[in-house]
Amino acid sequence: MPIDKKGFSMIHDVSKKHKSHTALDGLFRYAEFLNFGEIHIKFDPKTNLRAIVAIHNLKRGPGIGGCRLVHYKSTDKALEDVMRLAYMMSFKAAMNNLAHGGAKAVLIAPREIKDREAYFHSFADFVNDLNGRYVTAVDSGTSMDDMDIVAERCKYVTTTSALGDLGNPSIHTATGVRRSIEAAVKFKLGRDSLEGIRVAIQGTGHVGYFLARELTDLGAKLILTDVNKRSLSQCAEEFNAETCLPEQIYSRDADVFAPCALGSVLNSETINELKVSIIAGSANNQLAHHNHADLLHERGILYAPDFVTNAGGLIYAAAMYDHDDFHKAKLQVSDIYDNLLDLFARSKKENRSTIEIAESIAAERLK
Ligand code: NAD
Repeated sequence: MPIDKKGFSMIHDVSKKHKSHTALDGLFRYAEFLNFGEIHIKFDPKTNLRAIVAIHNLKRGPGIGGCRLVHYKSTDKALEDVMRLAYMMSFKAAMNNLAHGGAKAVLIAPREIKDREAYFHSFADFVNDLNGRYVTAVDSGTSMDDMDIVAERCKYVTTTSALGDLGNPSIHTATGVRRSIEAAVKFKLGRDSLEGIRVAIQGTGHVGYFLARELTDLGAKLILTDVNKRSLSQCAEEFNAETCLPEQIYSRDADVFAPCALGSVLNSETINELKVSIIAGSANNQLAHHNHADLLHERGILYAPDFVTNAGGLIYAAAMYDHDDFHKAKLQVSDIYDNLLDLFARSKKENRSTIEIAESIAAERLK
């Protein structure tokens, strides 16, 4: 992902490296490093909207990406997040041959949103001002109801409730992750079925829940964890799964580790704890550092790159926006299986990490 080989990923690190004098110097350096693009900012004191839209690459079509409503420690952190995510959306769209570029929106969560309708109307006006270069969608902290509010004022929006469950990206993301696990199990363990395969899922939120459901239906055995005890116990009860404390998930005896909670969870410490031979999950930017891909490769742990594995939601969101055939979208999500088998075979043949190969394919398609 957008981390250089020496490990500079933060705006202020890049800024420090180049002895930048102001925050804007650092921002421009980081933008150059990631091959940006555009960054747009809106502040609306009436609704307390603090919004950033990052548009990374429009060579393949309008930028499409979720709208996050999250608390950030600083504006720098919010900028870094939106830029890294927009960059990754370009790769995700390119890997799946979608006619879309990469973009993302971040709303810096205020202490309180007094009027959610006015807040999202203000965001909708902002998206309108970008004239279709950015198409917004559901992400962490936003819901299909919020996208319905946006749709009242703006047509550059997808994942509204208009199509019911079909518009819920988490369901399709979970299916893509399940197809990725099936491909990795086939390649690494030579098995065509998930019957009896042990999967450790980190995070029982939207994607984790639907993934647990699909895997249980196929006979997999689950170990679940979440910091939210209520959602964890509900999920464990429904799927008759084992549970563990959040910090224990890395060292559990399992075949597959599925990170479905946070980014940067794969670092030198956690990788050393892992007993699994496969990693495939939905979380964005799972590797803390680019070099950790090599560490996984050296340890013989098969890594299904996050931006290949978690593309199901984007594929459906794009189909919904483009009024495309959903049967085609279903096949595309299913095809993640074949795409990954090809990627794994190339990684083995060329003795290069899976993410290095996936990035080179996507970068080629973005030229
Ligand atoms: P979510 O917020 O619904 O679920 C995340 C879950 O992780 C929550 O239940 C939370 O309590 C839990 N969690 C947080 N910190 C944890 C920790 N340290 N240990 C264990 N659990 C922890 O989010 P989601 O929509 O299910 O998405 C999960 C991940 O997949 C996110 O990284 C998201 O960016 C990524 N993703 C989601 C989609 C989608 O369609 N929803 C698409 C692509 C990528």
